[in-house]
Amino acid sequence: MQSAEKPSNFLRQIIERDLAQGTYAHRRFAGRPADAATHAAGQPDPARIRTRFPPEPNGYLHIGHAKSICLNFGLAQDYGGICHLRFDDTNPEKEDQEYVDAIIDMVRWLGFDWNVGGVSHLYYASDDFDFMYRCACALIEDGLAYVDEQSAEDMRRNRGTLTEPGVDSPWRNRPAAESLRRFEEMRAGQHAEGSMVLRAKIDMASPNINLRDPTIYRIRFARHHRTGDAWCIYPMYTFAHPIEDAMECISHSICTLEFEDQRPFYDWLLDHLVRLGLVASPRPHQYEFARLNLTYVVTSKRKLAQLVQDGHVQGWDDPRMPTLVGLRRRGYTPESLRLFAERIGVSKADSWIDYSVLEQALRDDLEARAPRAMAVLDPLLLEMTNWAEVFGAADHAEPCSAPVHPAQPERGRRSFDLTAQVWIEREDFMETPPKGYHRLTPGGLVRLKYGYVVRCTGCEKDAQGRVVKVLAELLPDTRSGTPGADAVKVKGVITWVSAQRGVAAQVRLFDRLFTQAQPDAGGRDFVAALNPHSLQVVQGYVEPSLATADAGSTFQFERHGYFVADRIDHTAQSPVFNRTATLKDSWGK
Ligand code: ATP
Ligand code: MG
Repeated sequence: MQSAEKPSNFLRQIIERDLAQGTYAHRRFAGRPADAATHAAGQPDPARIRTRFPPEPNGYLHIGHAKSICLNFGLAQDYGGICHLRFDDTNPEKEDQEYVDAIIDMVRWLGFDWNVGGVSHLYYASDDFDFMYRCACALIEDGLAYVDEQSAEDMRRNRGTLTEPGVDSPWRNRPAAESLRRFEEMRAGQHAEGSMVLRAKIDMASPNINLRDPTIYRIRFARHHRTGDAWCIYPMYTFAHPIEDAMECISHSICTLEFEDQRPFYDWLLDHLVRLGLVASPRPHQYEFARLNLTYVVTSKRKLAQLVQDGHVQGWDDPRMPTLVGLRRRGYTPESLRLFAERIGVSKADSWIDYSVLEQALRDDLEARAPRAMAVLDPLLLEMTNWAEVFGAADHAEPCSAPVHPAQPERGRRSFDLTAQVWIEREDFMETPPKGYHRLTPGGLVRLKYGYVVRCTGCEKDAQGRVVKVLAELLPDTRSGTPGADAVKVKGVITWVSAQRGVAAQVRLFDRLFTQAQPDAGGRDFVAALNPHSLQVVQGYVEPSLATADAGSTFQFERHGYFVADRIDHTAQSPVFNRTATLKDSWGK
């Protein structure tokens, strides 16, 4: 099962060590999250390792989550394990079913599955609130937790600082029975929000502030999107997360570096819960990796939510957003995102990945797959004035064809007509060109790609002196693919779309959303770094066949880059294309 071709990293080494030592070889799994006794009565665990992707359903997934998804599901795949999708829904105010649905959708879209052998490993922390409550009670009874009735302000003050130890709460040594009664009252809704909390009793002088009696339960009279009003106390994430891991028999609990300081509490809690016989042994272990930082991008659900709420973008799925729904709408494929995740790898040191690495993964995926097409994005009319003379009729249409993919002849050819008037790119004509310009210029020759050679004879201008039409003469017998094609030598070949047959399309061109490479570094105001020119909408023309392109299908517009028919707005009547990426990297410039 181990894949030899993937480069090793510290996580793969840890897993390989655990497999070699049989650390998790003899455990049992009840088929669902459960306590120690239920697992002990279960079957031998068919999974060699268990990992999980544990999003909080409080926003849409972004490119950083894709790294974590590919990592967790990928490791499980590579080592004969199973990866769970778990919703860490312990924070009722901010969570919503809308986000749950969107997250499920995106993990599937990325190509991963939590259904293994007929068992769905999709779990919700909120389904285990009862067991978490039981764990809390057990800790109280064991003298390891107490209800603290200090004000929030006193608690904060008595926590101490990095240089000074904390001060014990006056409630710290109250009898367990009293804490237990209070905790039951908290659960019964008899105390106001903020009036008391349950704290673990560890060490108020610990150099790690996370061990200075961290809060593990608080009162919140908030409706939960799944449990409704059943609870008015909710576990803290740091308490719930290790318990969920243990209930699900996770072996390797992989999280981002900011949780490194929480690991001692993770270990403290699970060691005690194993000792108390509540969670199964061997217990999970936490490992930290560096989160993805991508230049010109912010990856924080809160900040992305702000961009949506304040109207800086048109929604979570705006193609400029680094959300997975945004990237999909932009034209990113699951394959390109998985390739990106593989290329960036994992490490224990924070770093920034250049946005061009993401774009290059897209190009490397689409180069071989995307069918080619011609499009004109800044249209200028070119008229062949001798058309009727050459072909016998002004409205004659000359059939042309081009390969669907130049390197894959087996994919066949696409057909389109050349007509007397065609759209060309405005930049492909210059009345007085600089040296080395090989496109249209009065007296010069160019080839209309897949068509004929034309000689430019001049242009027409409007009252403001702006060129409105380029005039040319077609050279008969120069048709691409015919014996005479090479008789006339040309230095330039330009793309075009028939003015009579081409289809008008809206084309959305995107630039980086931020002008700063690290928009939110050092607490900077990322909104001030927004690029006011990140979206440019142009009216262009595309090959006729593209009108019937399916929404979401991808093309390479020759010389322009990769484009996708917009998933939402594209129709045959009014085609809309998004530019996914240009053909060459422009980020470094
Ligand atoms: P955000 O700060 O954007 O809300 P989060 O870490 O709070 O992100 P969660 O939904 O809690 O979001 O994250 C689910 C998983 O995704 C976690 O295991 C987290 O470590 C991981 N993750 C989140 N952001 C990144 C990132 N930028 N790079 C790698 N992994 C990430
Ligand atoms: Mg978070």
